[in-house]
Amino acid sequence: MAQQVKTTGIVLREVRTGESDRILTILTPGHGVISASAKSSQRLKNKLFAATGLFCYSEFVLFEGKTMYIVDEATALEVFFDLRGSVEGMSLAMYLAELMGTLAPEGEEADVQLRLLLNSLALICRRRNLYQVKAVCELRALSHAGYMPDLVACAGCGCYEGDAFFFDVAEGRLLCSSCAARAGRAVNLPGAELSAMRHILYSGDDRIFSFILPEEALRHLSGLCTDYVTRQLDHRFKSLDFLQTVLP
Ligand SMILES: [Zn+2]
Repeated sequence: MAQQVKTTGIVLREVRTGESDRILTILTPGHGVISASAKSSQRLKNKLFAATGLFCYSEFVLFEGKTMYIVDEATALEVFFDLRGSVEGMSLAMYLAELMGTLAPEGEEADVQLRLLLNSLALICRRRNLYQVKAVCELRALSHAGYMPDLVACAGCGCYEGDAFFFDVAEGRLLCSSCAARAGRAVNLPGAELSAMRHILYSGDDRIFSFILPEEALRHLSGLCTDYVTRQLDHRFKSLDFLQTVLP
């Protein structure tokens, strides 16, 4: 008999197949990113309909199939309905889901990634600053995946305080203004934003979103984080292209 797996998880992606089926990509705490077939789940009256849609955080009962899991039961725990209230919020959620689907491991524990995404989506629903949610989720997701930049001090001289730094998105390192000038680089990271990045990277999970920066600075920081994501991963996120048109 096929082995049964009970797990919570959030639907990162749904691909409609046939008349009424869906193939889901689910981020789970114990098995990382998995694929699962949800038969007939597009039908309104189907028992899986309410708990297998995009961004549903549900409790799943799965069976191991030949090529992917098969969803037998699903009970919704949180559906993040308020994401649908704004195009910008929904677009950011789509991007963060794609980012997490790319960065989170398959077949391995991904509890921190799952909690990061759940917290991010909850904050989008609560109308937190979207640039802030985006920057935090990007930096932490990259760090969990092994792309943590070294923001402790200047890579050239070791100084760690200053009005402005150069954040090298290719190397994931920091140069102070003097070392940047010697290297022919223009500073791109004001001191306040560096403090915010350090807070995001070096705080405990429960404190990562609790810092304050003016809107313009958050927007700039968000842009820099995206530069870092695209440079480090060398991957084109379709959802990011769209997000940048609604949240420039
Ligand atoms: Zn230096």
